[in-house]
Amino acid sequence: MRYQVAVIGGGPAGYTAAVAAAKAGMSVVLFERQSVGGVCLNEGCIPTKTLLYSAKTLDAARQAQKYGIGVDNVSADLVRIQARKQKVVRKLVLGIKSMLSAAGVQLVTGEAHIEGPNTVTCGGQTYEADNLLLCTGSQTVMPPLPGLDTVDCWTHREALQCTSAPQSLCIVGGGVIGMEFASFFCSLGTKVTVIEMAEEVLPGLDAELCALLRDGYARKGVDFLTGTRVTALRPMSDGGVEADYERQDGTGKLRAEKLLVCVGRRPVTQGWGLENLHLRLTDRGNIIVDRQLRTSQPNVYAVGDLNGVSMLAHTAVREAEVAVASMAGKDEYMSYRAIPSVVYTNPEIAGVGQTESALQKRGTAYRALKLPMTFSGRFVAENEGQTGLCKLLIGSDNRLLGAHVLGNPASEIITLAAMAMEAGLTVDQWKRVVFPHPTVGEIFREVLS
Ligand code: NAD
Repeated sequence: MRYQVAVIGGGPAGYTAAVAAAKAGMSVVLFERQSVGGVCLNEGCIPTKTLLYSAKTLDAARQAQKYGIGVDNVSADLVRIQARKQKVVRKLVLGIKSMLSAAGVQLVTGEAHIEGPNTVTCGGQTYEADNLLLCTGSQTVMPPLPGLDTVDCWTHREALQCTSAPQSLCIVGGGVIGMEFASFFCSLGTKVTVIEMAEEVLPGLDAELCALLRDGYARKGVDFLTGTRVTALRPMSDGGVEADYERQDGTGKLRAEKLLVCVGRRPVTQGWGLENLHLRLTDRGNIIVDRQLRTSQPNVYAVGDLNGVSMLAHTAVREAEVAVASMAGKDEYMSYRAIPSVVYTNPEIAGVGQTESALQKRGTAYRALKLPMTFSGRFVAENEGQTGLCKLLIGSDNRLLGAHVLGNPASEIITLAAMAMEAGLTVDQWKRVVFPHPTVGEIFREVLS
């Protein structure tokens, strides 16, 4: 069987590329060993956001009185919350399958193995392809913590499936996954402790906003041990876990019913014949790609988490589009200038572009403009008792270098700043855009005025 494009991996990158290539008139085969949608849809972005929405609804019901609404007997049923999550995932998986089939993509369920730059085998069949698009994603990193192999430990996968909230939870890694699960289990009444090696949670996002987010969760009862290393883990007789830790001011012990480890992900580069392509790799072992996502083999492209550049589903989708455009002979190039990051805590935190600390490290001149989110009337109307913060970083050319938001719905409004950045708008050009009133997005105009 011969195709113009063979796509390996059916996550957001893979299915986007497959549909785009098929719509461009190419013959496409897509290999997926599990369920289309990848980690994002089956055990990542979508299921977590579904759980977090239930938690947010619970928080809102508990706070309904602040808005003049009486709600009695508020409770959470984790079994039903999980059932709804499964329903959402099933619905979206079916949607992707029908989109692939409508576009005429040949979907092969099974583990693909690369034999060479034009040859893939799967289930005893051989498939030839003019172009290979590799998007096998990433897998959870398990750190070498002493005693980790002796304790019962959750990764995000088990945390996502849990049908009864533990009394107490120790989360190792205060990154994106750690903070989103801290938020979820805190809403459900679990006593959460986050152990983070760095000096602040969510390294990579604006440190001032992260500190405010952390303070907010600390007030809700989450304990944070930042600048802290786990030195030993051991099982307790009641099935829980005991952790020894050390930090600058000394050592300590922590006991919890459950342990969740989330210290990052790494590209999946082994077990599927990637070595047969002899691709050029970075010092860290990531596949080197050019701005069209082409590897050192001209007909082989690597997109999404696999190339290790950005490790976000939305980046993967755009990379997939660029790679397919390149196969079709178009002059499109990937831009990483304005890729938003969002953490779906409650409140959400989001950022795009540079942070102050990155600018300072590089010695780039900038001015920081910031306002509490309460300068947006809509924010005040809908976020009783919340303050939030919006920060814009402006370069010497009067263009946006970075935008950072703490407050709902940061995930939705950050795109406004990303568009201004990607389009290279000056502050004056951005201010001339008319924003609907009242919207939370108007905060950007307020900050600039
Ligand atoms: P991460 O890189 O976001 O965070 C890992 C955290 O663990 C970091 O803060 C790091 O300093 C800390 N850490 C590392 N080793 C440690 C140790 N031994 N002890 C204590 N802390 C330690 O990784 P993640 O949270 O596991 O998420 C994995 C990937 O999934 C990321 O690439 C992320 O972008 C993606 N993801 C994205 C979203 C989103 O966009 N909302 C949600 C979930 C996951």
